[in-house]
Amino acid sequence: GTLKRREHLQEGKFFWCQCKRCCDPTELGTYSSAIQCPKCRGGLILSTDPLDQNSPWKCQNGNCAYIVTGKSMLLLVDTVFKELDSIHCNDVNGFEVFLEKYRNVFHKNHYLCICAKHSLFQLYGRSENFMIQELTIDQLRVKENYCRDILDVVNLLEPGLSKLRGVIMYELHAPVMIQATRLYESGEIKNNDLKKRLREVIKLLRESEEILKMEPEGSNEYTMAVAAGDALNRIGKV
Ligand SMILES: [Zn+2]
Ligand SMILES: [Zn+2]
Repeated sequence: GTLKRREHLQEGKFFWCQCKRCCDPTELGTYSSAIQCPKCRGGLILSTDPLDQNSPWKCQNGNCAYIVTGKSMLLLVDTVFKELDSIHCNDVNGFEVFLEKYRNVFHKNHYLCICAKHSLFQLYGRSENFMIQELTIDQLRVKENYCRDILDVVNLLEPGLSKLRGVIMYELHAPVMIQATRLYESGEIKNNDLKKRLREVIKLLRESEEILKMEPEGSNEYTMAVAAGDALNRIGKV
């Protein structure tokens, strides 16, 4: 979010960032600071001047134009940030409750929601009681959707060979692949659909391998690149 990020910049370097993203109230179309209008339901509230944190925020729905002061916005974001920060890093349910609670408050790409989803997509598939093979189809879909939400944002903010993109694409391949095989085995999808889904899996693995193999050997990311390569070999033999 612009406010938080620029507050940090300001603390450290005593200047206001003037980059294209900070000057753009939609933050390059990601809406990562936007909140949903409590008055008209459907309008988005954006800063009237992202370079001035005291400036008011305004509903973009012209018929509504509901105003929130900069001070109230800072207070809201700060309070919710503390709440998010207090959730234990392994607490799947805690993050889910958090997202549900603020589903109608923040834009789905708000950085506080993205932060919770980022924790969650890593927990689904890895933590106790949530190992990837134990996940239900619904839980796999949830992990898939969180990965896709974050990938959409990262594609706008850090396109190209960013490490985060590589990690998310690797994380995304697993739920897509497992759903595809399970649905095929149970006869819920046909051969064509299976092939289409596997083509996406291959694309995700190839790109994540390409990105992550540039990381230092022995790092988690490099290990993911190796795992991506192994998975590609296995799929190639099917
Ligand atoms: Zn900036
Ligand atoms: Zn409104």
